[in-house]
Parts: sequence; structure tokens; C-alpha cells
Amino acid sequence: MCGIVGYIGNREAYPILINGLYRLEYRGYDSAGIAVLNDNIQIHKCKGKVSDLEKHIANNKIIGNIGIAHTRWATHGEPNDVNAHPHYSESRELAIIHNGIIENYLTLKEELIKRGHEFRSATDTEVLMNLIEDIQKNEQVELVEAVRIALSQVIGAYAIVVLSKDNPNMLVAARKGSPLVIGIGKDEFFLASDATPIVEYTQNVVYLNDEELAVVQLGEELKIKTIKNKDKIPYVQKLQLSLSALEKGGYDHFMLKEIFEQPRSIRDSFRGRLNARKGDVQLGGIIDYEQKLINAKRIIIVACGTSWHAALVGEYLIEDLARIPVEVEYASEFRYRKPVIYEDDVVIAVSQSGETADTLAAIELAKSRGATILGICNVVGSSIARMTDAGSYTHAGPEIGVASTKAFTAQVTVLILLALRLAKIKGTISTSRFYTLITALESIPKKVENTLKVNDQVKSIAEKFMDVRNFLYLGRGYNFPVALEGALKLKEISYIHAEGYPAAEMKHGPIALIDDEMPVVFIATKKGTYEKVLSNIQEVKARKGKIIAIVTKGDTTVKEVADFTIEIPATEELLVPLLATIPLQLLSYHIAVMRDCNVDQPRNLAKSVTVE
Ligand code: GLU
Repeated sequence: MCGIVGYIGNREAYPILINGLYRLEYRGYDSAGIAVLNDNIQIHKCKGKVSDLEKHIANNKIIGNIGIAHTRWATHGEPNDVNAHPHYSESRELAIIHNGIIENYLTLKEELIKRGHEFRSATDTEVLMNLIEDIQKNEQVELVEAVRIALSQVIGAYAIVVLSKDNPNMLVAARKGSPLVIGIGKDEFFLASDATPIVEYTQNVVYLNDEELAVVQLGEELKIKTIKNKDKIPYVQKLQLSLSALEKGGYDHFMLKEIFEQPRSIRDSFRGRLNARKGDVQLGGIIDYEQKLINAKRIIIVACGTSWHAALVGEYLIEDLARIPVEVEYASEFRYRKPVIYEDDVVIAVSQSGETADTLAAIELAKSRGATILGICNVVGSSIARMTDAGSYTHAGPEIGVASTKAFTAQVTVLILLALRLAKIKGTISTSRFYTLITALESIPKKVENTLKVNDQVKSIAEKFMDVRNFLYLGRGYNFPVALEGALKLKEISYIHAEGYPAAEMKHGPIALIDDEMPVVFIATKKGTYEKVLSNIQEVKARKGKIIAIVTKGDTTVKEVADFTIEIPATEELLVPLLATIPLQLLSYHIAVMRDCNVDQPRNLAKSVTVE
């Protein structure tokens, strides 16, 4: 995880770097630091957030046109001032920022210690820094070559940028497994973990590929070569990102803004892909793989966290509509559990960032077994988007809040389109049912708008439960993944313990937890297993649990039993997750705000999980 930024050009580097860090802070925020080259490399770093770094720097003037900066999510060594990046080399002639993990750092460190090197920090990063310096000095090679040789000895994941006192017009960067974008301006270059720190300066970017090394040098063209020393021609792309999408736009938090953006983000996710008048659904990105999908023996969806919940909705949808067997796997389990993968399996990777380390590894494994790999990602140009055979972007727009909201509903939207498309070409859905569903999907953004009107009501419910220690979320069928997602959201941002369960499973254990202090959120919308859920509600009521129920507009039955009911508009059962998730997002948001939690940057978390 973590965010890295670099700048070289004619402007002052400090403001660009610090603003870049604020943009990337969603990626990690336990410590931050900055290095700028003047006559010497000056490093300022400290534990805490980017704002703490700014305070720490206070009145120190940081002058220089070349620099690097980092916001950390610690993997090796606790978050403290010393372990914060950038790290000097032993001679202080070099400095490095690093995103990722050097897996063989201990072996390398022992070697370097034997050769007389000393280390200041507990990080794997400092080992790489000293390895580069050791190679540069002992093998008498140029910086770029030293970086290249060092990286060929490294096992693990990295995106790095190296600053050198002796090369005042140059930055050397490289990546494997962690993202790195290079912005090309007029006589200046920007480097960053994603394009957000770059967007206001230039639209021309190059996404570095795995095992590539970039040399940015003032007055020269960008040079790229592989770790194996093969020259590459940089592929310059135009950024499609607006600055306003990166700002809070009047909301108190990014998360709230993103919850309220869902009418738009869902519409954008089906725009141009769904045509209710023509009765058609198309996903351009996967058109060449449709036959593969409908003939697949099995579809395996790999994902982590919230994306895993979207994948579970996807399983229900594809099996329900297209009658193709689907398995949903945690990418972290799949990659290590020796799964059986056939050549006629289709593996779909779902990830907001498109950089999730475990999901990337799961893709690699499935690829090596000959399966077809598709991706559903939000971040354009991300590693998953580039590693897969084909895929569909979700078009949710940049999601800055660490707890995913609009990316989840966008993923579900794309999975609905996929299931509908497959059902249509496979002939497992009648024309009238297909038409009913796509018309219903088209009306979802309007219904999301109506659902968002429950905000004040949810806020008043949140007040009553802000101090509880546990929550249960129960749902069945399509609402089971919604229950899981509701519980995850609460855990992530309010630090209240919450569990999601299939409502009927409650009897097999969790019912023991229920007493008059236990809030139980039921997703009890009409149709499907509604009657069964009603019985589950009664079972909780009989044990004096406090019931908060998400119900279909006009429902009176649940109202009689539940302590609180939140109404959402009626829709087709398989589209309910797009609506029912929203009050649950709002509930966790308001509880977290009332508990004074950092909603956009919850503790211990980071947005883009680029470590396994
Ligand atoms: N492994 C490095 C560290 O612990 C980098 C972690 C990161 O990606 O922030 O310092």
C-alpha cells in the first residue's frame, strides 16, 4: 500500500509533493515524509498523517526542484519517525521511497551487515537502499545500473523512486507489483502511485509495467528499460480524470460524497451498455469472450473485501439468470490452496483499485493453468485491467474514502449486466423477463436518489446505537451479501464489532448473542424469502433483540415487529442490493461520525491493498 510521489522540473518541488501526498493519503497514513535535493538531500519525516508532516516541517524552508515523498502503511517496522520514508542510504548520498514488500530482505540484510553496513530503521526498504549503494560503490556502476542490478536480486513487490545527490537532474523509478504512473510535462516529470497528484499538471502519462525501470532526466526524453536491461518504448496515454472528482464538493467527508454519488455512478456503470428501448445489453470489453463464458464449465470469481461481497451477488445473479455454475473465492485463499483450475474455466477478478495484491496473484495462478481471465475494476489502466485477457471498467469514478461504497454498487451493476448478457445469448431468459429486468435496472438511479432521502432518519437511528459494542446483520438470498457488506462497513469505520450472516444460519450459533442490548439489522425486502425472514425477525424479537429493518416501501407487517424500519423503493428482487446497501452505508457513516472516528481514513486500513 502507501503512496509515493516524485517531481523533477523547474518548479518548487515541495508544494507539488505535499499536495500529491494529500491526494494519495487514502493509500496509507501511518507516517509520511519528504526528501528534496538542494546541495544535499534533505529529509523531513514523522509518524502520523500528511498534516502532521506539514506541522513537523513548520517553518523550515524546503527549497529545491527535485524531490520524492511518501505516505506509509507499515509492513516492516512499526509506524514511527525512523521507519517513515524516505530512507537515506548509509552515505546519505541517495534516498528512496518504496511501496511494497521486499520478501528476501532478511537474507539481503544479513549479507550487507557482514559487509559492514549499518541500518537505522527496521524496514525492508532501507535494505534495498543500501543494496543499491553497495552495488554502485563496489561495482563502480552508474546509479541506473546499480538500481537495475539490485532489483534483479530482490524478491517481492515494489514501486520505488530513488533520488541521488550526484545525479541532480535525475530520478530513477521502477515497479513490480505496485503501481507507478509517470506524468510527462514540459521540461518536467511527475511520478506517483496513481494519476491523482499529476492530473492538474499534465494529461500525458505513462503507466510503468512490472519489472520496468524508468529514468526521468531533465532535458531528456523519458527512458524505460526492463530489469533484464531491454530498452522499451514508452507508451504515452491521455488521462481521463477530472480534478473535481478528487475534491469533497461541499460534503464533510469523501465517504458521504461517494454515497450520494451513487445515482450517477450506477448510471455511468450501465451507460452505453444498456439500451432499454432496443432491449439490449452489451459489455463491449468482453464481447470476444462471450462464447467462452457461456460454454465455461465454471466461472470462478476472485476478490477480496467489499469486492468479494459484490462477487457473491454476482454468483447469485449468473447462476440465477444464465445458469452457469459460479464459485466465489477469497483471492488470498485461492492463490495458496492448490485449487483445481481447468482450461475452460473463466476466472473473473473483481477489484476497485485493480492493484489488490492477492487478486493479482490469483490471476497469475489461474493464467498459468490456462484459464481465461477477465477483470472488473474501477481504476483505469490498473494492473488487473492490464493483466487480464479482457474486462469491464465499473466507471464509478475515483473513490477516495477508504471504505468502499459507490465502487461496490458499480461492481454489482456490471455483474448484473454480465448476467443479463450471458442469459440472453445463452437463451436462459425469456424476452419479456429480460425486458422487465433491464427496464427495472434503468430506473435504479432514480430509486437510489429516493433511497438517499432516508439519510436523516438513518442519522437519528444511528444516535440510538452509537455506543453499542456489537451488531448483527441478517439477510437471505440476494440480501445475504448485503448483510455481509453492511457489517463490514460498520466494522471498518466505526470499529464496532459486527457480523453478517444468512438470516437462517442465526439459529446455528449467533442467536446465542441476542439479548435486549443487541441490535440486529434485517434486510427484509418483499418477494424472495420475505416470509422466511419474517420468521427470523420474530425469533429475534422473542429474545428481545433490537430490530432495525430495511423494508420495501409500504410494508406494514415488519413495522409491527421491528423497533425501526427504513423504507426503500420496490424493485426486482435481484436489483435490491443496489438499494438496500445504501441505508447500511449511511448507518455506518453516521455512527462513525458520532463516535468521532476518522471516516475517510479508518485506522489500520488503506484503500488499495497492494500487499498480501
Ligand atoms: N515495506 C515498506 C515499509 O514497511 C513499505 C510499505 C508501504 O508500502 O508503505 O516501510
